[in-house]
Amino acid sequence: MQVLELTRDPNVSIQKIADLVQNDPALTTKVLRTVNSSYYGLATPCPSISRAMSLLGLNTVKSIVLGFSLVETTKAVGLDARFDLESYWRRSVYGAASARAIALTMRALDPEEAFVGSLLQDIGMLAAFAALKQEYTDVLAEGPADHDQVLEHEQLKLGFDHARVGRQLAEKWRLPEQIQECIAHHHKADRSVAHHRTLVQVVSLGGMAASALNPRRDPQKLGQFVVVARKWFGIEAARARELLEQTAKGAADLTKTLDLKTGDKPDLASILGMANEQMAEAQEEMQREAVELKQKNDELAKKTITDGLTGAFNRAHFDATLRAQAAKCKGANQPISVVFLDADKFKSVNDTHGHQAGDAVLMELTKRLREVADRVGTLCRYGGEEFVLVLPQVGLDRAARVGEILRQTVCKTTFDLSAYDIAGLSLPVTISVGVASCEPGTATADWTPEQLTQAADECVYAAKQAGRNRVRQYGMATTNAKGAMWNVVVVDDDKFVCRLLQKNFSTRPEFRCTFFDNAEEAMAALTSTTPSQRPHLLLTDLNLPGMSGIELTKSLRGRAECASLRIVVMSGDSEPSTLEKMRFAGADMCMDKLELSGNFAAMAQTLGSLLSRTRAA
Ligand code: GH3
Ligand code: MG
Ligand code: MG
Repeated sequence: MQVLELTRDPNVSIQKIADLVQNDPALTTKVLRTVNSSYYGLATPCPSISRAMSLLGLNTVKSIVLGFSLVETTKAVGLDARFDLESYWRRSVYGAASARAIALTMRALDPEEAFVGSLLQDIGMLAAFAALKQEYTDVLAEGPADHDQVLEHEQLKLGFDHARVGRQLAEKWRLPEQIQECIAHHHKADRSVAHHRTLVQVVSLGGMAASALNPRRDPQKLGQFVVVARKWFGIEAARARELLEQTAKGAADLTKTLDLKTGDKPDLASILGMANEQMAEAQEEMQREAVELKQKNDELAKKTITDGLTGAFNRAHFDATLRAQAAKCKGANQPISVVFLDADKFKSVNDTHGHQAGDAVLMELTKRLREVADRVGTLCRYGGEEFVLVLPQVGLDRAARVGEILRQTVCKTTFDLSAYDIAGLSLPVTISVGVASCEPGTATADWTPEQLTQAADECVYAAKQAGRNRVRQYGMATTNAKGAMWNVVVVDDDKFVCRLLQKNFSTRPEFRCTFFDNAEEAMAALTSTTPSQRPHLLLTDLNLPGMSGIELTKSLRGRAECASLRIVVMSGDSEPSTLEKMRFAGADMCMDKLELSGNFAAMAQTLGSLLSRTRAA
């Protein structure tokens, strides 16, 4: 205890310790004999304690002193024949020799610490015997022969185990904390505190080597040592074999120098012979198991996130990906987009050619979509014939271009289903695409993932309304104000004007707008919706790529279902002849584009009062 006390002081002089050890002549003799044994492999004999310390280091001498003190302690306990002292020392000495060899291999650990931790591992058994005598030996006698199972048996019979007793004793003796950990957890290294775990694992593995070298020659213990050595420290089978040899040799030396009885020497040749077979087997098995396990895990992981029919990611993965990516993009002040894709008139494929053909179309569709999608984002099957693509860090315009490429990839050639065992069937397939983005610095910045998905879905609806096989992007397509009083259709091929109007209208919850960039698509939407969704107001540009604003007005005015529709033409041209033409075509009003965007509040009021009045036929 005095030596321990002294060595706790980092500035202690070697001489001070040497003096202390030399106070005890018996101890001095033993230490010197040990130091000069083959175990430490000194080239020239060492004559003194202080020289031993400078040659071997403080820690080594400390462990030797501790080892001897411990041996003396056991004698003081007054052990008798009932206590199997031979097995006790065998485990400690073989364990210590092994732990030291393992620690030397690892380099990162102090071998002497591992040595001491191992040597003291079962000290709790001595304490238990000192306190309980026969009661304890009786418990051990009726217990399992395998020391690894003794702990549980002690718990059962006594309500405590020797690891705990040893820990308390070590605490009382104020042994270093890492040694306490070794004693407490030498049977269950994973329970030890993280910063001492490696040391405790080395001690525990040393114990396994001791079991493997037991005269009982248990092949299972041998296998355990090999497997665990590899698992914990990546020690290969050949090195594990060497460690066993070093353990046997070191233990023999220690037994001699400590003047102990540790039973018969292990039949190393036969154990290593057994080890060869075992190790080859264990290794093969381990490799096989590892490969199988990895495959299984990979498959399982894949299964839970992919769709069985198409192999695309599934809905659950979409939800998780979008949530994670949206949070990430928001944090980095970057946009994120969702592209929603829906096969057009897909039901008719099933109805006309059967479900198998329908399935084949879905598989081919997925294949085509992934050719593009996999390079830019995560494609998921949302459900049925609906797919969705998550595009992190991608803004609306680029996402719309991706949507357009996807649309073209699908419709450019017909789907040849012979690749899916459906001979002679080649079908034209198209998709409608909706694109929405959550972009920093815009009205969409605070959207939830659900709102983003819904916006993209609404755009698909707009694309369907506009005639299918097309891309609609949010803003160009629709803004959805809850409780809107008026449905407004805006037609302008100038994207900038549309974005501007979309932004302005989004501040007025009484308007719900759908945007189109050409008159033809607007026409389809204006005439095909159900009465409850029928637009109240058409706000159209005068000059459009195909059908002009005036032509659109004219043809709508010819339809009964558009009788109450208000039509306002936007123009930058206020020539009296143009205005006359518009009136003649059936427009209710003409608005100056510049003013509409520059003075929106006033214009909105004008539109509101126009809509409030009943339209005279
Ligand atoms: P729209 O252009 O408006 O989207 O019309 P649609 O026919 O594509 O849409 P609708 O939602 O009416 O029909 C979708 C069909 O997709 C109905 C359903 O039977 C079919 N479907 C959904 N999942 C599968 C599937 O896994 N295999 C097959 N063969 N059909 C499916
Ligand atoms: Mg659908
Ligand atoms: Mg569909």
